[in-house]
Amino acid sequence: MKGTVMRSTGSFYDVLAEDGKKYNCRVRGKIRLEGIKETNPVAVGDHVIVDLEHEIGSITEILPRTNHIMRKSVKKTGHSHVLAANIDQALLVVTLALPRTSLGFIDRFLVSAEAYRIPQIIVFNKRDLLSEDDLIQLDELIKLYESIGTTCFSISAQQDDPEAIRKILQGKITLIAGHSGVGKSTLLNAIAPSISQAVGDISSFSQKGTHTTTFAEMFALDDKTFVIDTPGVKEWGLVEMSEQELSDYFPEMRDLRLECKYGARCIHINEPKCAILDAVQHQTIALSRYQSYYSMMMDEDNRK
Ligand code: GDP
Ligand code: ZN
Repeated sequence: MKGTVMRSTGSFYDVLAEDGKKYNCRVRGKIRLEGIKETNPVAVGDHVIVDLEHEIGSITEILPRTNHIMRKSVKKTGHSHVLAANIDQALLVVTLALPRTSLGFIDRFLVSAEAYRIPQIIVFNKRDLLSEDDLIQLDELIKLYESIGTTCFSISAQQDDPEAIRKILQGKITLIAGHSGVGKSTLLNAIAPSISQAVGDISSFSQKGTHTTTFAEMFALDDKTFVIDTPGVKEWGLVEMSEQELSDYFPEMRDLRLECKYGARCIHINEPKCAILDAVQHQTIALSRYQSYYSMMMDEDNRK
């Protein structure tokens, strides 16, 4: 029978099968997916074939993925696993106050998603806490991110009905991310109260285990709408990319870079007649975005 992996603990998997029931499954034998080196081959969101003849089902096959994201690998050990697969869009919850999410963090998230070709949504939460000045800054940020193709929402998850966000999730698999404390649970609860019940059940269950590794968990809003929560995961593993490639994942740089004097060799740091540096100078590329680009370029972990 076909099914979708809703939860993984690294050795057991909850699979929602075609019959609408959830089964506890293990991986029997070796499953390897072409081109992916990982310690934990089955990921949340995977479509799988399960053999349900025994009390504990067996995952016998992983069906082809439309995409997948890696967890940021733990330094030194080099262990990594696929965090989630078959994602339609990624939604990042951020706040300008209590806590303040840095623009650098937002940009890294957008670049990662862009590199995995996953459309992005930003929800600016806790609008009710913002001062007049903050609200002006919020409007500018929304303009900036919309100008590069990101869908943005501004909301108070505590006070508003998140109808527009509920709508954008409809019929899709959405990965939800954000620093702890920004209001992800509050938002999910406002979108679908039934989910927070499930989140509660699962976290009390997994606390019985001794492992501290956090895995993604998928929740159904209805039979076509799912959200994937990634508790404790701050950053995804970036896809391998060269220095020259990084600007591909900044939409406002992608086409412009063809105009650099050094062409494809330019990495837009200090080259003469660089179209990107020129655009930053003329403020057609936001300084904050270029700063994020620069710091990612300087961070060797991004460019294996
Ligand atoms: P999570 O860690 O991202 O899941 O964050 P929570 O949903 O647990 O929220 C963290 C804290 O922020 C809680 O005390 C919430 O009540 C509060 N909170 C969440 N959304 C809002 C909001 O829109 N406005 C205000 N003022 N507080 C909020
Ligand atoms: Zn350049």
